[in-house]
Amino acid sequence: MPPEEFRRYGHQVVDWIADYLAHPERYPVLPDVQPGALLDALPRAAPEQGEPMEAILDDFRRLIVPSITHWNHPGFLAYFATTATPPGILAEMLAAALNVNGMLWKSSPAATELEQVTLGWLRDWLGLPVDNFGIIFDTASISTMHAIAAAREAADPEVRLRGGSRNLVLYTSEQAHSSVEKGAVAIGIGQRNVRKIAADEVFRMRPDMLAEAVERDLASGLRPFCVAPTVGTTSTTSVDPLPAIGEIARRHRLWMHVDAAYAGMAAVAPEFRSLMDGAGQADSLVVNPHKWMGTPVDLSVLYTRRPDILRRAFSLVPEYLRTAQDDRVVNFMDYGVPLGRRFRSLKLWFVMRSLGRQGLAARVREHIAIAQQFADWVRGDPRFELCAPVPLSLVCFRKRGSDEENQALLDCLNRGGEVFLSHTVLNGRFVLRLAIGNHATGLRQVERAWELIRASA
Ligand SMILES: *Cc1c(COP(=O)(O)O)cnc(C)c1O
Repeated sequence: MPPEEFRRYGHQVVDWIADYLAHPERYPVLPDVQPGALLDALPRAAPEQGEPMEAILDDFRRLIVPSITHWNHPGFLAYFATTATPPGILAEMLAAALNVNGMLWKSSPAATELEQVTLGWLRDWLGLPVDNFGIIFDTASISTMHAIAAAREAADPEVRLRGGSRNLVLYTSEQAHSSVEKGAVAIGIGQRNVRKIAADEVFRMRPDMLAEAVERDLASGLRPFCVAPTVGTTSTTSVDPLPAIGEIARRHRLWMHVDAAYAGMAAVAPEFRSLMDGAGQADSLVVNPHKWMGTPVDLSVLYTRRPDILRRAFSLVPEYLRTAQDDRVVNFMDYGVPLGRRFRSLKLWFVMRSLGRQGLAARVREHIAIAQQFADWVRGDPRFELCAPVPLSLVCFRKRGSDEENQALLDCLNRGGEVFLSHTVLNGRFVLRLAIGNHATGLRQVERAWELIRASA
């Protein structure tokens, strides 16, 4: 593509993005499509000859966009909403253009050093101790897998050589995200060696049950090595009692990995910092700027106070990747499985600079306030009930009645195209989740959602 043509289509694409971001609500939040529709609409074979950009962009608008779930839509209230803010989008364009591979310091000094700078800033915003080393991965799932691998390295360094992690046992709560168990599966800990500790009546891991489980495993000759509590669980945003869990971890020399993928970001607002009490003691912690922080997917950060162990778990340097600077620089490829690394810190830098800590704190604060308001509405309507405390910006609620009625209510709401909510199961009952995390979502949209919920009920 000649430069002039790139310029022309580049402007067209930026114009499309600007219009889209101005009015994502012009689209239904969930597309009205059946599974396989796009598969059928696209050719079975790739083109033999190159096609004109006009045709490609045309098909993007005509075929792709109608099959999109609009995460940018202010009525997107499902899962944990994520927001691609314009500064983050601009940085993604630049990162794509530079196309550096940040595997080594030498393969692009800026990619390495900007990652160090931004993750130092973020560590301070979250109130984490300065001895935390940060590294960017694509997702929290991968960050957590690396944390579990580091925990294994600390407990049994022979595994790296020998393979087979013999009798190591990992603890997490029954409310933990599936990524903890998946990480254990991926590195060969085995599902049988993952203990899902019971939660209390407000969905927090019970330290007494954790202590009991560890004692029981020790008594039967197993080797407890890691505990993974959560700050902001996926179903209800409950916060596990980190100080008490940390105490047990220290007593039994367990690696403590904190999953704060969504809720960690709330700590940018000083009044919510206490959610992270005890996190400073953790061996590692994951937080996702791509969730609540306006950074386009994907960007997850793993912090660890024991980077030497993480490095020991993964460093393997073939001759062709040795450089003269190796003893003076960080080569991020040494701290994990991926060799190639996108220049992800660029978008984090753009977002952090353009919003500032106060700008982000204001979003978090507003989202939490709106969720409290919504929870009050639910409490005030006898047809509905709240199903969990609301410490952050997620409300779990249901219509008093059967699971079938609640499923039907959710389907009816989501079919309308104005809002998208998701669900979970708590105490065996089907529960609706309304999660506020999109930067475009304000009180007005949530008021409208409540109107639709009552009408649908
Ligand atoms: C979203 C989330 C995850 C998974 O995040 P990915 O980046 O999609 O892997 C893990 N844990 C918690 C608590 C989450 O909220």
